[in-house]
Amino acid sequence: MFEYTGAVHIHSRHSDGSGSLRTIIKAARRAGADFIVITDHNNMGIRKEGSSGWRDDILVIIGEEISPRYNHYMAIGIEKEVPPDETSAQKNIDAVAAQGGVGFIAHPFCYHRPSPGWAWLDKLLKLDVTVYPWNDLDVEGFDGLEVWQYMYDWVKCVNSFNIFAHVIAPNWFVTGPNARTLKMWDELNMTRKVVGIGTLDAHAKPRVLGMFPACSYKYLLGTVRTHILTPVPFARASMMDEQTVIEALRQGSCFFANDKVADSTGFKFYVKSEGATYQMGDQCPLGHETELFAVLPIEAEVRVIHDGKLVSTAHGESLCKRINRRGVFRVEARLKNRPWIFSNPIYMV
Ligand SMILES: [Zn+2]
Ligand SMILES: [Zn+2]
Repeated sequence: MFEYTGAVHIHSRHSDGSGSLRTIIKAARRAGADFIVITDHNNMGIRKEGSSGWRDDILVIIGEEISPRYNHYMAIGIEKEVPPDETSAQKNIDAVAAQGGVGFIAHPFCYHRPSPGWAWLDKLLKLDVTVYPWNDLDVEGFDGLEVWQYMYDWVKCVNSFNIFAHVIAPNWFVTGPNARTLKMWDELNMTRKVVGIGTLDAHAKPRVLGMFPACSYKYLLGTVRTHILTPVPFARASMMDEQTVIEALRQGSCFFANDKVADSTGFKFYVKSEGATYQMGDQCPLGHETELFAVLPIEAEVRVIHDGKLVSTAHGESLCKRINRRGVFRVEARLKNRPWIFSNPIYMV
């Protein structure tokens, strides 16, 4: 398998981001990403600055964040912009599917806690963050969920008293996927495949004292990233490689990690059963000789989750576990007690 690192969910100046396509590509290069996914609110206007595809060594994919007041839906693999339907999240999901696109529920349970008793000061300093949660839980037909989103994780407790600490040491405040989102992801996967991804929501804003962005593109594009695994390497052909990324995301052949904790490149999670190997996103028939493997780039704590429940924990650079039951298996890795890597599941049937 070939691994490529993606910085997903980036806003440009065509919605409420601050950067041009050129700025974002430069930041992606400096952050060591292989591909980037730009999803502006309700438009794909960044195409005016250049088409999708290869820009030197960065593969640019242009999608859309369909953004009604609630229920933002991040879509890629669509040709035409989808105007947001304010009354029905399902219609937005269906519109993406009708174009053959792939869609992800964006920042489902995001929240912000203002300073207790000092909300007026937060407001004065423009730290009264407006949140855009997903509140229609009856929808169906979406491909996946943003399980971990860097900006909403960073911003959840920002207030007038801790903003400078947030700016100086952003990663310190990033505590991992929201517990409700993880629970929702596990429960959904017990009924059908729902792909989990890690994203940024990079805006390179807000500006502190009107000057520098609290989180720059260069910084953000090196944080929570989705790494895809593909059976074939990139061909350096724009349309073909774009399709390779989209299909890996649709299939769930990917994991996500905070690469600021440590570079997660090289992580592997697979199952061997009766002589065949199954990757993330695959269904695997339970055999007499079925073993699960996780391989980490450096020593860390590895956790195996089965149907949403922790079933084993180990320390090391690899883990091998015999499997004798059906269900949904995924792994998580923690490094120095910080959340780090999250695999997509393998489905034992
Ligand atoms: Zn959003
Ligand atoms: Zn966004």
